[in-house]
Amino acid sequence: MTKKYEANNFIEEIIVNDLETGKHDSIATRFPPEPNGYLHIGHAKSLSINFGIKEKFNGTCYLRFDDTNPTKEEQEYVDSIKEDIKWLGYVWDKELYASDYFETMYECAVLLIKKGLAYVCELTAEEISATRGDLVTPGKESPYRNRPIEESLKLFAEMRAGKFADGEKVLRAKIDMASPNMNMRDPVLYRILFAHHHRTGDDWCIYPMYDFAHPIEDAIEKITHSICTLEFEDHRPLYDWVVDNCEFDPKPRQIEFARLAIQNTVMSKRFLKSLVDIGYVTGWSDPRMPTLSGMRERGYPPEAIKDFCSRVGVAKANSEVEQQLLDFCIRENLNKNADRAMVVEQPLRVIIDNIKEGDELVFSSINNPNNESSASHNVIMTREIFIEKTDFELVPPPKYHRLVPGGKVRLKSGLIIQHKSTELDENGVPVTLHCEYLEGTESGGPNSGMKVKGTIQWVSSSHAVECELYNYESLLVDAKDGVTDFRERLNPNSLNIIKGAKAEEFIAEGEIGKVYQFMRSAYYKKAGTFDGIVRFYRVVELRDTYNKK
Ligand code: ATP
Ligand code: MG
Repeated sequence: MTKKYEANNFIEEIIVNDLETGKHDSIATRFPPEPNGYLHIGHAKSLSINFGIKEKFNGTCYLRFDDTNPTKEEQEYVDSIKEDIKWLGYVWDKELYASDYFETMYECAVLLIKKGLAYVCELTAEEISATRGDLVTPGKESPYRNRPIEESLKLFAEMRAGKFADGEKVLRAKIDMASPNMNMRDPVLYRILFAHHHRTGDDWCIYPMYDFAHPIEDAIEKITHSICTLEFEDHRPLYDWVVDNCEFDPKPRQIEFARLAIQNTVMSKRFLKSLVDIGYVTGWSDPRMPTLSGMRERGYPPEAIKDFCSRVGVAKANSEVEQQLLDFCIRENLNKNADRAMVVEQPLRVIIDNIKEGDELVFSSINNPNNESSASHNVIMTREIFIEKTDFELVPPPKYHRLVPGGKVRLKSGLIIQHKSTELDENGVPVTLHCEYLEGTESGGPNSGMKVKGTIQWVSSSHAVECELYNYESLLVDAKDGVTDFRERLNPNSLNIIKGAKAEEFIAEGEIGKVYQFMRSAYYKKAGTFDGIVRFYRVVELRDTYNKK
């Protein structure tokens, strides 16, 4: 018998098995963000698993906002989350909100009280945590634990009606204060919170806790596989307890996987929000942020992010992935797709003595040599051109294959030039070179076979646009021993702006957002034109500098 589906990881194995044994005939997953911040690359991992399952097994995946914590949630975050998921190319079957189930959750809580499985407790938060015990000591039962059912029902209704202040009372599950699993020691199910909710307004002053709300949300939506990160493994018995005792059928199954962690990258929304709040970055979409909107702003292709998630795979044990893997995926994508351009970051003036003022030699260059159907643009050589300062050395070190006094070098897409003389400033630094081009050395020309060791980028001074380059580095530097606060690891050089760079003029016409490969340098995204100067963001360097560092 040939298998209909090939499982690629342990979650898919469970799903294939559930389909083959007839436990399910269709699969339903969900992506459940809390709208308390922007999505980050870790969420892309969860998205790729949940939507990947939908796509592979022809199932459904809902986008469900887990909006049960009104003090931290905002419409801005809801909007950004939707935009980011769309950008990655995922299509949700329904847009749902946990807050739409508040009434059902309330009814579930009442059912638990009636079954003698929940009670209103009047201990303070401190008292509850002090009586919870620890791994070796059982907890102490609350004095309110055995109050009559009728009394809890009445008090819970009064909690909802707004009779008590924040924190005065809670609803707790009645499970087992001696359970080896701390989550089962009479966890809080509802708390009083007088807070305005971004969707339900002031309808509620009690809100369900995550561990109570989440299984109910999954069960209401008939989610078959509720996929979450490893830290919820210990919460699974409570998840199942809620589903069972609230009498849901069919029952969703919680499966945990290892969360994505990337070296020198902090993904907690709380930390990212603090960077925004202190103004260390320009906002959630700052190109240095590990948020999806930051990566979009930076110029990362969405396909590269998905490729990265699939290469990382789905694991059952936590581990850290190197930043280089993400960079690799971005380069793989851009190498195929980005148009090439010549840009000189630190221009050195070169006069080609055998070109007359006003004369133009015109060459053609294909925009993307990896794409045969790509357009071409003209590369124009004039008497005055710029080359990179670092591509000329008066006293060259060994194995230096670029331009040297008296030497030759090939101008990319143009001709070979030979150095004749150098004008120096008062400090002995070269300011202008004089060169001559060698006849017929253009590609296809009679002397095109002439051998030179180096090829360099260049631009004509009269056919160049001025640009500025925003070169980004990691937001965080490597952790030093004993440093636990991320704020002490902020990289003071995470942004370097290079002004006065010169680029081939054809890139002035490219649309905003387009990514180019600046030859021999890096991939850059066009961010816009400001006062006639074209601004570029560095997406990723051309080569992996990891081993060099
Ligand atoms: P954070 O801790 O960064 O604030 P969160 O887990 O609170 O994130 P949610 O909005 O609750 O964020 O997450 C929505 C979904 O994304 C959850 O199912 C969560 O498990 C998953 N998720 C969040 N961070 C990661 C990560 N680093 N790797 C994989 N999945 C993640
Ligand atoms: Mg969360």
